[in-house]
Amino acid sequence: METEEEEAKTVSEPVGAEGWAEFGVIGLGVMGANIALNIEEKGTKVAVFNRSYDRTIEFLKSAPSKRFAGAETLSAFVASLASPRAILMMVPAGSAVDETIEGLLPYLRTGDLLIDGGNEFFENTERRAVKLAQQGILYLGMGVSGGETGARHGPSLMPGGKAEAYARAEPVLRKIAAQVDDGPCVTHIGPGGAGHYVKMIHNGIEYGDMQLIAEIYDVLRRVGGLSNDRLAEVFAEWNEGELESYLIEITAKILRRRDDETQGALVDMILDQAKMKGTGSWTVRDAAQRMVPAPTIASAVDARLMSAHRELRLLGASKLAGPIPSLVDSASNSGNAGGAGGAGGANRSPSGACIDDVDALIADARAALYAAKACSYAQGLMLIQAASRDLNWAIDIGEVARIWKGGCIIRAAFLGRIQAAYARKPTLESLLFDADFSQELAARQEGWRRFITLGIASGIPLSASCASLAYYDGVRSARLPANLTQAQRDYFGAHTYARCDRDGVFHTEWSEAS
Ligand code: NAP
Repeated sequence: METEEEEAKTVSEPVGAEGWAEFGVIGLGVMGANIALNIEEKGTKVAVFNRSYDRTIEFLKSAPSKRFAGAETLSAFVASLASPRAILMMVPAGSAVDETIEGLLPYLRTGDLLIDGGNEFFENTERRAVKLAQQGILYLGMGVSGGETGARHGPSLMPGGKAEAYARAEPVLRKIAAQVDDGPCVTHIGPGGAGHYVKMIHNGIEYGDMQLIAEIYDVLRRVGGLSNDRLAEVFAEWNEGELESYLIEITAKILRRRDDETQGALVDMILDQAKMKGTGSWTVRDAAQRMVPAPTIASAVDARLMSAHRELRLLGASKLAGPIPSLVDSASNSGNAGGAGGAGGANRSPSGACIDDVDALIADARAALYAAKACSYAQGLMLIQAASRDLNWAIDIGEVARIWKGGCIIRAAFLGRIQAAYARKPTLESLLFDADFSQELAARQEGWRRFITLGIASGIPLSASCASLAYYDGVRSARLPANLTQAQRDYFGAHTYARCDRDGVFHTEWSEAS
C-alpha cells in the first residue's frame, strides 16, 4: 500500500489556477520533460504543455511534486502563467517552432518572453526575434547542451537575444544550469541568434572531438593491437590528466560495457554507421560562407558520411588495394582486438612501421589527441569570433569557454585553459597563438606527427587527425601554394590576381605567354 507521502507525490493538478505558474515549458519530450523537472526542483511553479495531451497526463502522473500544472490547450496553458509570461519551447527546430509560436501568439501580450531551447539554426532565430519584437514579445534563442542528464540536473545554457529578454530569464537559468567553480554555466552570449550560433559551433566541436577519439581508438586497436579492456584503461588514465573530459570518460565506460546477448564487448556489436541531425553540417556550411577554415569539423562530418555508405565500403574492401592494418603482438599488450590478417613480425605493423613499444604508441596517441583537439577548438572559436565580428554580437570567447566547462557534452578540463588564454588576451587571433598552447603543441609535435604517419602507413582513415595537423601546418605557413591556384584561376577564367611586390589587381594573357 502507498503511504500518504508517496500518494501526495504522484498527484498533480491537470490545470493550474489562472496566473498560478511562474514559468512555462512547451514540449515534454526527452529535453523538455527533464528541464521542466529541473526548473520545478529549484522552487519554481511550472506550467507544462505538450502537443499530445496523453504525454502531459503521463508527465503529471510521474512528476514528483505538486508545483506543476498541465494544460490541454495553449490558451489554458498561457492563462495558467503569471504575467508577464516566460515560456520555454523544447520542440524540434524548424516548422515545429513556427507552428508553436503561431499557436501561442493570440494569447501572448506585450512584455511576454518566449525562449526557444531547441537546436535551431541561428538565422531562423533572428527572423523570429525580429517578427516577435514588432509585437512587443521578447525572444531568446537558447542553446541547451548536456542531453537528458544535463537537462535534468544542470545543462550548459547558451541564450542569445536582447539583454532585456536575458535579464527576465536569468534568475531561473542561473538556478537550473550546471554549476562550476566560477559560477553557473550560463551567460548572455549576445544579441539576435548569437546563442543558437554558439550552440551550433559547440556541436561542430563535439563532432570533431568524437571523430578524433574514434580515430585514436582505431589506430590503437588495429595497429597497436589493444584490446577493449586495455583501451578502456588507457582512456580512463587519460581522463585523469590534460585530456580529462566527459567524452573521454564515457569512451572508457563504453569500451568496458559487455553485450548482454553475446557477453563480448558491446561496442564490437554496434553497426559502424554514424548518424547525425544537422548541426555539424550547418557549422561546415557556415564556415565556408564566412571564409573561415574549419577542416577538423568538416572532416568529422565527412567521416560520418563515409560511415553511412556501408555498401560502398563493403565493395571497396573487396576491390581496393592498400595496407591491411593488423595486430601487433606485444609483451605489453595481452589483449586481442580481433581483426583481419596477422602481423608480419612481433613488433612490426603491416606497413613496415616499427612499433617497438606499445606504451610509446599510446604516449604518441595521447599527444596526437591533445594537439588535434586544440586545433579543432581553435577553428570553432575562430568561427565564433568571425560571426561575432560580422554580426556585431560582441561575444566574449573566454566566457563561452567558461560556460562549456560544465553540463555540456564537450565539458573538459581543457576549457579552463582556453578560458585562461582568452583572459590573458581577449582578442587572441587564434587559440594556437596563446603562449601556453603554442608551447604545448610544440612539445607534442614529434609524437603527433609520428602517430599520424603510422596510421596513414597502416591504411587507417585519419581524416580529422590529418585535418588538424594540416590546419596547424597551414596556420604556420607564411607562404602557401595558393599563388599557383590564383595563376590557374587567372589562366582559365581571367579571375585576376594580386602581386607580392606591389598593390593592384593583375591579369595575364597566359595562353599568349605559353
Ligand atoms: P523529443 O524527445 O523528440 O521531443 C519532441 C517534443 O516536441 C515532443 O514533446 C513533441 O510532442 C513536440 N513536438 C514535435 N513536433 C511538434 C510540433 N510540430 N508542434 C508542437 N510540438 C511538437 O525531442 P528532444 O530530444 O526533447 O529535443 C527537443 C529539442 O531540443 C530539439 O530541438 C533538439 O534538437 C534539442 N536538443 C536535444 C538534445 C538531446 O540530447 N535530445 C540536446 C540538446 C538539444 P509530441 O509528444 O506530441 O510528439
